[in-house]
Amino acid sequence: MSSIDSVAQKYRGLHLSAIAQGLEQMLEQAEANAVSYLHFAEMLIERELQQRNGNRIEQNKRRASFPVHKSLDEFDYAFQTTISKREINNLLDFGFIDNRENVVFIGSPGVGKTHLAIGLGFRAIEAGYKVCFCTALTLIEVLELAELKGELKKKINQLLKFDLLIIDELGYLPMNKQGMHNLFQLINALYEYRSIILTTNKEFTHWGEFFFDGNVAVPIVDRIIHHSHIFMLGGESYRLK
Ligand code: ADP
Ligand code: MG
Repeated sequence: MSSIDSVAQKYRGLHLSAIAQGLEQMLEQAEANAVSYLHFAEMLIERELQQRNGNRIEQNKRRASFPVHKSLDEFDYAFQTTISKREINNLLDFGFIDNRENVVFIGSPGVGKTHLAIGLGFRAIEAGYKVCFCTALTLIEVLELAELKGELKKKINQLLKFDLLIIDELGYLPMNKQGMHNLFQLINALYEYRSIILTTNKEFTHWGEFFFDGNVAVPIVDRIIHHSHIFMLGGESYRLK
């Protein structure tokens, strides 16, 4: 009969490393509890699936390129009273992603917009979705660079692979005509196909101000707020607390 090591080696050869690694312990456990053959077969494959799932989630967290870690558990609703825990929890079934809807957080600096966006992003990844975080500034730069190389479409297609795109701090930057055109191409491609979480310090009626051409602000804003959950955050800056 083969040794545990040689069996484990065969699992490893088929890239079933979680089974290979846990084999000895699972065998002992199975013998001690007199588990059925079927249950044992299930134990093996469950171990492998669990590890792969965990690895994928870790990989998706790295790929999301969050600037910092923020958790919804750390969000203090007693300080930020213009949004309730229930409203945020309602988003956590991620129906908004399945239905390709958007979430928009509007409010002045320090009221928790980025915190909520990142917190939701982490939870979405844990629920199995692919998320990409970028500030509006980097996004505009990345799109501009791609456009100069004649690769705007390719870049947009890359971004469309994510289920959820978080665009942080739209409204802090003035944008030139090409930047706005590129952004429109992206928003148009995302529209009713992928979800966006957007944070902004500007109310929609003021969006014309930071777009080079107010006329293009309208179709962009239209596409973002059609099918969207809009939260106006008020109160004091948490940074000044
Ligand atoms: P905004 O994006 O609206 O400018 P941030 O989300 O970056 O604000 O918040 C500023 C800082 O204050 C961050 O470190 C954030 O984690 C923290 N913060 C803001 N609001 C809260 C809150 N209600 N509970 C806990 N931390 C908060
Ligand atoms: Mg912010």
